[in-house]
Amino acid sequence: MKKLSVFNEIKLVYPYELPALPYSYTALEPYIDAMTMEIHHTKHHGTYVSNLNAALEANPRKELPLLEIFQKIEEFPAAVRNNGGGHINHALFWKWMKFNENGKPDGELLKHIEKTFGGFTQFQEEFTKAALARFGSGWAWLILTENNDLKIISTPNQDNPFMSIAETKGYPILGLDVWEHAYYLKYQNRRADYVKAFWNVVNWDEVKALYEKLIG
Ligand code: MN
Repeated sequence: MKKLSVFNEIKLVYPYELPALPYSYTALEPYIDAMTMEIHHTKHHGTYVSNLNAALEANPRKELPLLEIFQKIEEFPAAVRNNGGGHINHALFWKWMKFNENGKPDGELLKHIEKTFGGFTQFQEEFTKAALARFGSGWAWLILTENNDLKIISTPNQDNPFMSIAETKGYPILGLDVWEHAYYLKYQNRRADYVKAFWNVVNWDEVKALYEKLIG
């Protein structure tokens, strides 16, 4: 993968640190509640970071940047795959959100979405389908492939499209956490309601900025 440096604004080298949220825990209310955000950030993401550091501590290749590790993830212990994925997936996820009711992208990104999926609504439907069809825990993604195609995919657990073991590889420009810990306090078993609410908290400016850097 040739454009990994686009993601360099997140610190992705050992020792890993929990990044601050770019907004307050209440910022995404009522769509995502403050208690979920606080537990998700401090406890879930925080634990991925400390477990990732622990999993790498005695590894002679611990200084390799995380996105390089992902390119040969099958050579690393499962704890690096799970917690390394957990770290970057969440670091990106926080940046992909802000209060933005019924937000929509514009410019070249919107054109590319319309061309690929037949329209923004059709894109939302396909993304929602991927999020709901993921059995158990995982993520739904909008990725840009190395050939600059947009695709919607989903991955299990904390895997992501950067990883060598991913069925479809690419650069994630939007992702949605569909682990129960992301929505259970407010939505219980109603994942569909959570996914519907997500469309009111997508930070399209951030998605577009990432897209534009990747497409060059
Ligand atoms: Mn999560």
